[in-house]
Amino acid sequence: MEEKNKNIGIKVKLPKKKCKDQSCPFHGSLKCRGKIFTAVIISNKMQKTGIVEFARQYYIPKFERFEKRRTRIKAHNPECINAKEGDIVRISECRPLSKTKNFVIIENLGKEKGFKERIEALEESKTRKEKKEEVKEEDASSKSESN
Ligand SMILES: [Zn+2]
Repeated sequence: MEEKNKNIGIKVKLPKKKCKDQSCPFHGSLKCRGKIFTAVIISNKMQKTGIVEFARQYYIPKFERFEKRRTRIKAHNPECINAKEGDIVRISECRPLSKTKNFVIIENLGKEKGFKERIEALEESKTRKEKKEEVKEEDASSKSESN
C-alpha cells in the first residue's frame, strides 16, 4: 500500500489510509509547489476543506513595534488525511482548487496542546463582554427611570 503513495517531493509522513480524491497529492493528480506553512485547523465544517490559522508579527515603523496579526487560509483536506479541528497540519501551496482555495494539507502533526482551552477561553471572553454591555444598558435604563 505504501508503494502506491506518490512521492510528492516533500519529506512528510505518508498517510496510512488510501483515497480516491483527484485533488489529493498522494493518490490524485495534484502537484505541490510553492510555499509550505505549519498551522492549526480552526474549522473543518466545509466539505473536504479546512481553515487554518497562524499568528504572525507585523512591523509598524511609526511606533517601531510589532503588532499581532492573524492569517487564515483555506486548505484542501484529503480523505486520507482527514484532519480535525485543533490538529496541527502542514500545508503546501498548489494550483487553485476553487475561488479561494489554493493550498492542500500534506501532513497531520497531531493535536495542538490546549486548543480546546484556548477556544473556550475565547468564547468565555466574548460572553463576558456581552454581559458587561447588558449591565451597562440596565444601568442606563434604571437611571432614566429615576429621572
Ligand atoms: Zn489520498
